[in-house]
Amino acid sequence: MNAPLPIDAARLTLMLNELRLPTIGRLWPEFAQRADKESWQATRLLGALLEHELAERAKRRIERHRTESRLDPTKTLAAFDFSAVPMVSKAHVMALASGDSWLEKGANVLIFGPPGGGKSHLGSAIGHALIDAGYRVLFTRTSEIVQKLQAARQSLQLPAALAKLDRFDLIILDDLSYARKDQAETSVLFELIAERYERRSLLITANQPFSGWDNVFPDPGMTIAAIDRLVHHSTIFEMNVESYRRRTASDKQSARRRQSSSDNDNHRDIDNGATTMT
Ligand code: ADP
Ligand code: MG
Repeated sequence: MNAPLPIDAARLTLMLNELRLPTIGRLWPEFAQRADKESWQATRLLGALLEHELAERAKRRIERHRTESRLDPTKTLAAFDFSAVPMVSKAHVMALASGDSWLEKGANVLIFGPPGGGKSHLGSAIGHALIDAGYRVLFTRTSEIVQKLQAARQSLQLPAALAKLDRFDLIILDDLSYARKDQAETSVLFELIAERYERRSLLITANQPFSGWDNVFPDPGMTIAAIDRLVHHSTIFEMNVESYRRRTASDKQSARRRQSSSDNDNHRDIDNGATTMT
């Protein structure tokens, strides 16, 4: 690698920069040297360099998609314990996580259940897997995106704002039932749902099933129309489980109890020791 570079190396570097081929720019001296030494065909050298450029480019694109998604990097499928939610089919989740047909037809995923049951984690995990598969995802609290779209509407930019969101194959609206209707007579959340209907997918998490959505939309008619669109092509997961945090905390506590019953000196510890919620 330390061998003197060909006389026109500087020009080559310039051209590769101009063409935005940084990986080839980085790799070509080593590759060219090997090619000379091992008498590669020119096609092989060119092919190898281009393959590396493409692979790096795909990697960079996925990294960009991960950053723009605003997904919590720790909430992945690998970190999700399916045994905690026996009513959720792992096979079904894995099928959704690979994308394909449901995203192509703009179908939705709805995840319901009480707080702490793993709704946001499961939604995020599906999001991460889709990014790995090359899709573009946005994770947002519903109240936050509603605020932004509301501001856009006030400055007559709502259509543009909605069109900008079109680049995402999936938008994850976290905690829909916490969003509150505003004074305006049209709901931007409804606009978003209607705009994406049968074209672009939504994944929604909510503590309350549909019956509790009347506070989210301005009137019952709009609530029904929104639900109708969301449900039309959808997968619904109901995660009616006790809070994962509380459960893991009480598991730890009972483990400690078991331990203490075999060791009487520990009683005071247990009585005083508040269980740490992690
Ligand atoms: P929800 O959105 O339903 O209120 P979260 O997804 O925020 O619940 O879950 C609460 C906490 O418990 C998070 O830290 C999450 O990572 C964790 N958690 C919940 N369910 C699971 C699970 N099945 N496997 C691993 N961690 C979980
Ligand atoms: Mg949540």
